[in-house]
Amino acid sequence: MTDKIDSVYRTRSLGIGARGIPDQYADGKAAKVWSKYVGDQKKRTSFYREKLIAMLKEHNVQTVFDVACRTGVDSILMVEEGFDVTSVDASDKMLKYALKLRWLRRKEPAFDKWVIEEGNWLHLKEADIVFPGKGFDCVICLGNSFAHLPDFEGDNRAQLQAIENFRDSLRPGGILVIDHRNYDHIVAGGKPPMKNIYYDSQAPVDVKTSVLLVDGKYSLVTLDYVICEQEEDQENGDCEPSSKKRKEDPPAQNKFRLSYYPHLLKNFNGLLEKVFGEDAKHTVLGDFEPLDPSKNPAYYIHIIQKQ
Ligand code: SAH
Repeated sequence: MTDKIDSVYRTRSLGIGARGIPDQYADGKAAKVWSKYVGDQKKRTSFYREKLIAMLKEHNVQTVFDVACRTGVDSILMVEEGFDVTSVDASDKMLKYALKLRWLRRKEPAFDKWVIEEGNWLHLKEADIVFPGKGFDCVICLGNSFAHLPDFEGDNRAQLQAIENFRDSLRPGGILVIDHRNYDHIVAGGKPPMKNIYYDSQAPVDVKTSVLLVDGKYSLVTLDYVICEQEEDQENGDCEPSSKKRKEDPPAQNKFRLSYYPHLLKNFNGLLEKVFGEDAKHTVLGDFEPLDPSKNPAYYIHIIQKQ
């Protein structure tokens, strides 16, 4: 099925994760360039840290399942705050950074307890995870991760399966915290806002956005990141959008492409409610603040409770 998508449009650098799903990070290149984009990998913005921790405490969370842990950035801040954290990611290239960071801090009891495994959202029950008693207090899937899952069949089957697996990992009363970029804004022609609640990037970045429609449905958004790293790139104007200033293409190692499934807010609400039930308590935040129709958030964050 992924062949089908690639036959239309080359969506990513090639590579297959160890458990058989396309791994956009498998060539290791995105991990490297991404680290330039996000700046200090070990750090989240203090805004994000405060909001996330306050929200977890408000919901009496102790055990957390971070299902898109990447290099461990969210997991680490939660381990540091005293939560019991279990982390998975489908990309072993990403996990190796998390494993290394855990190793370096293994003498701290909280890090010694931190569980990290490879796991795919579509097959979470097969991952080497010990689920606590009735399930985790909280599943988190943040940083626009969920949009990495393509809609292979055109009916959101894969998304529903993944959300079901998240729900089944929770204890009754536990919460799923999941986000996506504001794709309503992006497919309407807007640039993805580069204001980022998650990262504190200092690197100048230019993002080219392409939107693919299949049979009248938004199927894919591709973001081509061009990141200026060296001073001479900026002096040469290589990161300037103006073709006049561009003497030659920026160095190849500063460019990478990621593709996302464009979750529109209404549709995403529908997917969550289909799996958790229409009566489930569901709150949507915009950049971690209550929704405000006069604002155009960069990210929508959903908190939904298992009944
Ligand atoms: N929470 C992190 C992750 C963002 S990157 C952050 O905010 O920085 C998204 C991650 O999702 C990547 O590490 C990718 O490997 C992972 N991912 C994508 N599809 C997945 C799947 N089907 N199962 C598990 N992990 C997946």
